[in-house]
Amino acid sequence: ERMLEIRKLNCNAMTMKVTYYKKPLYIHQGFMQWLWDVDGSRYLDMFAGVATVSLGHCHPKVTKAAQEQLQRLWHTSAIYIHPQIQEYVEKLVSLLPEPLKVVYLTNSGSEANDLALLMARLHTGNFDAITLRGSYHGGSPLTMGLTSNTVYKYPVPSSLGCYNTMCPDVFRGPWGGSHCRDSPVQTVRECSCSPDQCQANDRYIEQLKEVFATSVPNRIAAFFGEPIQGLGGTVQYPKNFLKEAYKLVREKGGICIADEVQTGFGRTGSHFWGFQAHDVVPDIVTMAKGIANGFPMGAVVTSEEIARPFAEGLHFNTFGGNPVACGIASAVLDAIKEDRIQENCAVVGTHLLKELAKLRDKYEIVGDVRGKGLHIGVEMVKDKESRDPLPSDAMTEILEDTKDMGVLIGRGGIYGQTLRIQPPMCVTKEDADFFLAVFDQALHNYTERR
Ligand code: PMP
Repeated sequence: ERMLEIRKLNCNAMTMKVTYYKKPLYIHQGFMQWLWDVDGSRYLDMFAGVATVSLGHCHPKVTKAAQEQLQRLWHTSAIYIHPQIQEYVEKLVSLLPEPLKVVYLTNSGSEANDLALLMARLHTGNFDAITLRGSYHGGSPLTMGLTSNTVYKYPVPSSLGCYNTMCPDVFRGPWGGSHCRDSPVQTVRECSCSPDQCQANDRYIEQLKEVFATSVPNRIAAFFGEPIQGLGGTVQYPKNFLKEAYKLVREKGGICIADEVQTGFGRTGSHFWGFQAHDVVPDIVTMAKGIANGFPMGAVVTSEEIARPFAEGLHFNTFGGNPVACGIASAVLDAIKEDRIQENCAVVGTHLLKELAKLRDKYEIVGDVRGKGLHIGVEMVKDKESRDPLPSDAMTEILEDTKDMGVLIGRGGIYGQTLRIQPPMCVTKEDADFFLAVFDQALHNYTERR
């Protein structure tokens, strides 16, 4: 009945039923890695509201910081400074390398990427942006132009009709999901070349050069890349790709933007920021999701030089830098450090990857397991020979089954064929084992039914 009531409202939560469950879940409470629905069923949350509740639902330290700030000051707008913004910005820049020391706060990842593109255009005087196939950079009209992943693009002319080089059909740059051969479900990990001499790397770079060769000279303002593609299906690039791409883009007068919306704040385990694993320093870093454990917030960090022409204009964002958001984000950074969250990502992530690889060897429909830390993707295929994506109905069946056994997982990839494991970063090895047992059972059930 409740579902019917909501359905009448036609609210945005209802649209998710298509890609996730037959009936949307009605969640009303959460604590750390656990969620409860209105009927009292408990779920282990292995997707954290799309990799966002980084520390856990209603994390006590973060909740306390939020409560204290709610009693002190809610809002000033960007025309005043307050201690929370000052404290937060200082903490954030201490985690980023030189020259990334100028911070602009937004309310979402899309807003952050919008702003980053604006900065790149002002700084370079150029217009176009290069993004990677399968990428997702936001749902605003501008960032939808940057987003290549067709699942999330509406069939309207490309944003404002003027960003054609960013369109996936025009853009011929590398698609992280393809590799030495061209099957859409092939991945970097299946490559038989050694990482240092990866042919795919050369091929990707060739494709990038082709983009430059065929685009209008001196038009590239920015190159956007997620250090690991999230919605694209947890796609990793060949080892040197980002490094070489950055070099090439800079030679052509563009600047390089790392979209850390999913990879930031320790999620990859080995590094606090995803770009650090690629041995690059971006010109702009954008972030959101895990930044405030589920409270709406985003940020753009860049150098003084790039910020200068931007700062000369009048930038205004009513909610950006909100005291409550900043108070929460500050507590998030403290808790990541105090609770050794990044280390936990590395330990539990390594365990998960190892155990999931066993399930890959056990089941014909598990095509690949990849990722880093608690940023993991499981590529589902019809069979290992064809490597065709597992059809959508079958994916829904598996998701439904795991949900019924008490575990929530995510989904991505351009065919929706990748299961995404991006839990709150507080999950324990025991939680991981529970998830693995449930997933094993769901794969078994699916195989039996066939
Ligand atoms: N960049 C990446 C890599 C993302 O995954 C997302 C959201 N899924 C965004 C940008 C956009 O963030 P938001 O939904 O907060 O606007």
